Parts: sequence; structure tokens; C-alpha cells
Amino acid sequence: MEQKLVSRNKADILSMTEEELVSFVSSELSEPAYRGAQIYSWMQKGASFDEMTNIPSSLRKELSECAEYRLPRIVKRLSSKLDGTVKYLFELSDGERVESVFMKYEHGNTVCVSCQAGCRMGCRFCASTLKGKRRDLLPSEILGQVIAIKRDTGERIGGIVMMGIGEPFDNYDAAVKFLRLVSDEKGLGIGLRHISVSTCGIVPGIKRLAKEGLPVTLSVSLHASDDETRSSIMPINKKYGISELLEACNYYFDKTGRRVSFEYTLIAGKNDGAADAESLAKLLKSGMKSTCHVNLIRLNEVKEISFTGSAAARANAFCEKLNSLGVKATVRRRLGSDINASCGQLRLSASEDEN
Ligand code: SAH
Repeated sequence: MEQKLVSRNKADILSMTEEELVSFVSSELSEPAYRGAQIYSWMQKGASFDEMTNIPSSLRKELSECAEYRLPRIVKRLSSKLDGTVKYLFELSDGERVESVFMKYEHGNTVCVSCQAGCRMGCRFCASTLKGKRRDLLPSEILGQVIAIKRDTGERIGGIVMMGIGEPFDNYDAAVKFLRLVSDEKGLGIGLRHISVSTCGIVPGIKRLAKEGLPVTLSVSLHASDDETRSSIMPINKKYGISELLEACNYYFDKTGRRVSFEYTLIAGKNDGAADAESLAKLLKSGMKSTCHVNLIRLNEVKEISFTGSAAARANAFCEKLNSLGVKATVRRRLGSDINASCGQLRLSASEDEN
């Protein structure tokens, strides 16, 4: 099933661990283990079959007949002159498009990846979900975004955030496989502690991830401190309410020892008043077993959506209120503000250009 999306009968080898590739190369091509290791290493660098110079050309040809591996193609690249952020629109092998972002932080370069083409979660402020979900991405297609960006920028990549298009826990197996691949020391070797997985709050997914033995940071998109408000902007809240969600976050902390962080998008007049900050502080102080961090994001306005982002002063006041009540919070810096780096918008506008 998975392999079908890449090609009707060719194996999706970039979705394989080194061990899986070694066994594939041995069973399909009767080649020794070291050949599998060589091919694995080349793919992680983004080399094409032709560039795998220490592999005999006859083997490369055989390989290309039974296996397929293609990095996402860069359709658009927007570079910010302000802060070095680069936003990519990628095309996958069947023409679907996703976005990724390369960001420069003081602690290192970070890539934001997409895990689905579109999204079916329906959050009312989000551009990615406006046209629904087209399909899940394969592990190779998520990893391919990182490899392609590394190759394109020539920069070291120290961290990953799964905060692009899609919901990681709605494509659970591929998301977890991606985490294992991208953190493999023989591959890109990105430390799991430098990876954040962001969810709109799919409780079973949080609990499952807690048991994977992957010490990634769980980032939960909360955006409201009461069920009524949250349900009005995030349909998922009707299925898993706030108390159940915080319980799952505590479970995650118990199992992994990793503190959970929360995203809170500030929407003018909806969730950004002093009373909202107080209610959020109360919720997190009473509901969370560990201290946590709140990332405040001023809503990026999307033309199809009627919500307005909070003004900077209001966001700062919200942040100070939380801090004064003992909840650590920061307002996220707007990277790439000159290139519209907010998630889902590039894909949306590109599809409109064509209509
Ligand atoms: N599905 C996951 C990850 C993708 S969205 C999740 O919901 O967490 C990544 C983050 O961007 C989420 O916190 C999401 O709520 C936020 N977001 C979506 N649209 C936004 C917008 N227009 N402005 C600001 N943040 C937005």
C-alpha cells in the first residue's frame, strides 16, 4: 500500500531503516550487507542513483528497476532578507504539494516539516485545513524534505519541528518512522531532544508516542483554556476535551520525563484578554504535574479566514500576565514575516494561481 504511492511496484527505499535496506538489498539483489549500508548512506545525503559512485553501475541499474527514491522537488523557494528563513513549496512524486521552512535560531538551524498534504482537523484559523486532507505522506516524503533542504542550503540542521501541514497523529506510523530515521546516527543524526512533535490534541496519539521510547518534545496546540472556546475553534476538542488532553500530557511527562510545551495562538477578541490569560494560568497550574512552557503565537492572518491576529502590545501583555502568575511563556518571534512563512498559505495560494 505504502509503496504504491511512490510507484506501482517499486520499493520505497528511503522509508527504510539501514537494517531494512540491507535485508532488501540482500533478498532482492543478492548483494552483501555493506552495499545496503552504502546505498543508505548515499540516500541520506540526497545523492541520486547516478551519484552513488562507489556502487557498480550494473547494480545501480538493477536497483533503479526495483526501487524508487526521489526527493521532493522544489517548486518555490522564498528567502527572507530579514532573518535567513527560507520557505519551500515542494512537489511530491504524484504532484501533491507541501511546505517546509528552514529557520535560523541562536541554538541552531531548525527545519519545520509537513506530514500530510492538507489536513482534516478543521481548526478554524488554519490555512492548511481549508481544502481538507488530500493524503498522508510516506516516511520518505517527510524525511525527503529535510534532506532536500540540507542539500539546498548547504547548512547544518540541528533540530526539527513537526509543525508544518498536517497532523502527525493522524499519520501516526509514518510520523514515528520518520522520527526514527531522521535521528539515526548513520543518517542525519538529529537528536530526538531537538525534535518537537506538535498535535492539535489527539489523545490516543499522545499516549502511544509516550510509549515509543523517543524522547522528543511534545507540543500541544491548546489555543483556549475552556472547552466552549476551544471547541468553537478546534473541532477535535469535541472528541477529546481539555481535561482529558491535560491528563494525556501528564501521562506523557510521567513516561518520558519530558516537559510538555503548549502553543497558544492569539486571536484578537477571541482568546487574548487578561481574563483569558488568568484562566490559562489557572488551568495549567492546577492541571499540569510539571512546569510547562507556553509559546504564544500572534495569529497569522489568512485571507479566507475572518480572524484577526492580536496586536504586539496585547500579546506582550498576555505574556507578562502569564509570567506574573508563574507560567513560563514567550511570544514567538515572527520569522520570515516578509515571505509569508505561515503554514499552509503557500500551498493554498499556489493552488489558486493555477485555478
Ligand atoms: N497539526 C499540528 C501541527 C501543525 S500546525 C497541530 O495542530 O499542532 C502548527 C501550529 O501552527 C499549531 O499550533 C497551529 O495551531 C498553528 N497555526 C495554524 N494556523 C495558524 C495561523 N493562521 N496563525 C498562527 N498559528 C497557526
